[in-house]
Amino acid sequence: MATDTKKKSSKEFIDLENQHGAHNYHPLPVVLSKGEGVYVWDVEGKKYYDFLSAYSAVNQGHCHPRIVNALKEQAETLTLTSRAFYNDVLGPYEQYMTEYFGFDKVLPMNTGAEAVETAIKICRKWGYEKKGVEENKGQIVVFDQNFHGRTTTIISFSSDPDARKNFGPYTHGFIKVAYNDIEALNEVFEEHSNIVGVLIEPIQGEAGVMVPNDGYLAQIGKLCKQNNALFIADEIQTGIGRTGELLAVNYDQVKPDMVILGKALSGGAYPVSAVLADNHIMEVITPGTHGSTFGGNPLGAKVAMAALEVIKDEKLTENARKLGDQFRERMKKLIEKTDLVCLVRGKGLLNAIVINDHQDSSTAWNICMKLSENGLLAKPTHGNIIRFAPPLVMTEEQLHECCDIIEKTILEFA
Ligand SMILES: *Cc1c(COP(=O)(O)O)cnc(C)c1O
Repeated sequence: MATDTKKKSSKEFIDLENQHGAHNYHPLPVVLSKGEGVYVWDVEGKKYYDFLSAYSAVNQGHCHPRIVNALKEQAETLTLTSRAFYNDVLGPYEQYMTEYFGFDKVLPMNTGAEAVETAIKICRKWGYEKKGVEENKGQIVVFDQNFHGRTTTIISFSSDPDARKNFGPYTHGFIKVAYNDIEALNEVFEEHSNIVGVLIEPIQGEAGVMVPNDGYLAQIGKLCKQNNALFIADEIQTGIGRTGELLAVNYDQVKPDMVILGKALSGGAYPVSAVLADNHIMEVITPGTHGSTFGGNPLGAKVAMAALEVIKDEKLTENARKLGDQFRERMKKLIEKTDLVCLVRGKGLLNAIVINDHQDSSTAWNICMKLSENGLLAKPTHGNIIRFAPPLVMTEEQLHECCDIIEKTILEFA
């Protein structure tokens, strides 16, 4: 029976996905059936440390009881009204969100890409109605190796050939410049008078955890102010404690004009995303100009409030910073012992190691296979880079056990 999932092996589940699902991912051959905190279990009962956290969506740990309870209670009460009517959770959620992050207004959406699309639309409308740029002439600056999601507009300004190829015609109105190069951005501002915004990841996660120089984001904020353009921070992966600050831009003590959140905003329990901005920007959005059937639904709103409370109450941001420092220390010690790893970089618990093997781009993949055998799940990103991003509920002892697994695996591999 197709519905009897209990007794199938990992291989059978993988075969089912291969046969009946579109092949738009290339997963590690592990079939997970349970998660709790920093751990996940496969269908054979093998336990792993999760070192991806669903691309930083599960900062609060798998199946956090407070988030699950919020989900259960609200699911039994009211799940969806659409925005044709008010509901008694959205207002409290919007108040909580705006106070939590220090903005006047929030626009609730569901997935990350939708929130990025929303920010692009707000930015363009602001450019025409507030900045006075001629309609359809507004440009948004984006960066080489960016990742902002998978919609047609967003992939139009991707640098990844797989993400772009044969999906055209592409959306116009984006100028791509080098990341972490303030002069390049300055030049673009000097050449173009119709720039309405700058859209950036404070750390480029998908590109391999590329951390810009200290002060770079503050300089972007300054250039945006001087040139009357909106500074838009895509904090979908870096936000909500992951990097050891509530938002990664906080390291540079700069406040963007718009912040985009997703992923850990729900702790992985439900798709919830949002765009935050102050009144003078958000007021360009009026009834009928934007929307989403599920955006701002009471179920997602309740889950998001619980997810944000967990971050604060369990001091997960502070924990990410402390454990991140220890993780990079351990990796630096490992680098002294082997030539196979040449670099560790990151902030808080968003880190990556670079594998020193230019001949064989499958080395990182093979290391991840070995790590999985040894009870730790991580995934290569962009060839020979392995991202390490465990849930932020990890203890110091667990972190060191994980570092032992990584060290042992890599030293055996070398
Ligand atoms: C994951 C991610 C997105 C896209 O979010 P989805 O929920 O997958 O649409 C956008 N920007 C960044 C920085 C991300 O990491």
